[in-house]
Amino acid sequence: MIVANWKCNGSKAMINEWTNNFLTNYVEMKKAFIGIAPPSIYIDSILDTKLSKLKEINIGSQDIDISSGARTGAISSEMILDFDCKFSIIGHSERRQFFNEKNDEIKQKILKIANKTLTILCVGETEEENKNDQTKDVLKRQLGVIKDIEFNDSLVVAYEPVWAIGTGTTPTPDKINEIHKFIKDVVQSFSDNSAIPMVLYGGSVNQDNAENFFKEESVDGALIGGASLDGRQFANIINIFNGINLK
Ligand code: PEP
Repeated sequence: MIVANWKCNGSKAMINEWTNNFLTNYVEMKKAFIGIAPPSIYIDSILDTKLSKLKEINIGSQDIDISSGARTGAISSEMILDFDCKFSIIGHSERRQFFNEKNDEIKQKILKIANKTLTILCVGETEEENKNDQTKDVLKRQLGVIKDIEFNDSLVVAYEPVWAIGTGTTPTPDKINEIHKFIKDVVQSFSDNSAIPMVLYGGSVNQDNAENFFKEESVDGALIGGASLDGRQFANIINIFNGINLK
């Protein structure tokens, strides 16, 4: 599973160019799950491109609000479901950092979409927490928001160390693997019935380093920011994930 998070980037012109570049490089693999989360205002523009003909491409949202109604600027869960969004990213570190989102708000958002569409819950420690050896404690706290929610396979966790996002620095592949195993164990410990979730790695993944991460047993894919803005590179990363390296 490979997911693009375009954040607050893009334009109608960019979508056209991106689509052409992507389609030139992408080697079709029907069984894959490719996600694209553009800014919400462009969801419809993407659904209008040739990308929508590829069954493996799923459009999703970067976030949702806790409710509808008098909340200027917000996008509700009902709206993203109305546009048939196949997933929503929830709890991205930029939402936690710049919009002051706390775990209780993140839980409310998850409850809005659980089992209606896929939840991609982002978790990750800051640089300071990493240096102080607090990573596992932080992750356990952040994962606590899904306690008591039955997911029926509709939960994906993205491990995104805050210090790796957009910096070009990443944990080593074996460290990522260890943390992914830990995340799967923690989620399972919440309920005997809970399925082991897919865990994606996110943080400075690009076409040159992706293969190193994908080789690890517990890495089920990637959530990609910066490198996903280039359609050609995003297609290359998917090809690498699918075992085809044309780069
Ligand atoms: C992200 O913000 O989700 C992300 C993974 O960003 P980048 O790939 O640019 O580090």
